[in-house]
Amino acid sequence: MTYEDPSFSSSKCPKCDSEMEEVSYRYFRCSSCNYENDRDAIVIIEFIWEEFSEPLDLPLK
Ligand SMILES: [Zn+2]
Repeated sequence: MTYEDPSFSSSKCPKCDSEMEEVSYRYFRCSSCNYENDRDAIVIIEFIWEEFSEPLDLPLK
């Protein structure tokens, strides 16, 4: 599995595709749907969703 460049500082919400804001170090929150997760986890989730083209029912942290 290959990840995107880990140096990027913003991310899009994997649930609703809105911009997420960094609320603490490497931790992002979506202001639209309140989804929040570690940035590394978001990258992995986005990768899986793009790869399989179907959303996974992942629990909110
Ligand atoms: Zn969202």
